[in-house]
Amino acid sequence: MKKLNTQDVNKIIRITINSVIANEDYFCELDSAVGDGDFGTSLSKGFQAIDSEWDSLNNDDIGKLMTSCGKIIMQNCGGASGPIWGTAFRKAGSYATGKNSLTLEELAEFLDAMVKGVQQVGKAELGDKTLLDALIPVTKSLHQSVEEGDNMMEAVEQSVQAAEDGAENTKEIEANKGRASYLGERSIGHYDPGAKAVSIILADIKNKFFDREFDGK
Ligand code: ADP
Ligand code: MG
Repeated sequence: MKKLNTQDVNKIIRITINSVIANEDYFCELDSAVGDGDFGTSLSKGFQAIDSEWDSLNNDDIGKLMTSCGKIIMQNCGGASGPIWGTAFRKAGSYATGKNSLTLEELAEFLDAMVKGVQQVGKAELGDKTLLDALIPVTKSLHQSVEEGDNMMEAVEQSVQAAEDGAENTKEIEANKGRASYLGERSIGHYDPGAKAVSIILADIKNKFFDREFDGK
């Protein structure tokens, strides 16, 4: 089965940067309903900074690239998102240090490292109405694909669907963490901005990279 190589990961990060910047206003709108309305701007600042520093980053080692991105996110994203997304990238970077490719199983473990990073910072669990409600279903779906012998494309399709379902489900539940938790029951009926962002970014990665550029399965 085809692996993701360093060049593929570079393309995926470039798509992530563009997705975050393109959705800045929408992500702020989502955060206005349950928080203070800064989520899109905070995230966008970090990814714009990655964009500015792109040429000076080490793009040959997946781990080093992710670690550098994590540091930039921590330094440039405001709000809760800086430490949360920054640690997620750094943890994935530690996992992938020395690697210049990722098998499907390694991709599942790479995502596990991201989840661990988010949980280390925010102490949230599945069902607390945070980005973990999209990210944890992604990791579960990838591991299930490994067990079932799915190819990379099948695994990606299913995990993107899992993220979408997870983000959709955040509308039905009450927030237990972060600023949205101040709303209590009134947070029901609104998406968690972080979960929605994860689902939108992953759908973009599928549409713009896997469906168009990924040759093989
Ligand atoms: P704030 O404005 O509250 O500092 P942001 O607007 O930058 O935070 O980010 C809000 C998003 O952060 C939420 O939609 C949620 O997904 C995520 N989040 C908030 N608290 C936590 C937490 N404890 N653990 C994981 N994610 C969290
Ligand atoms: Mg906010």
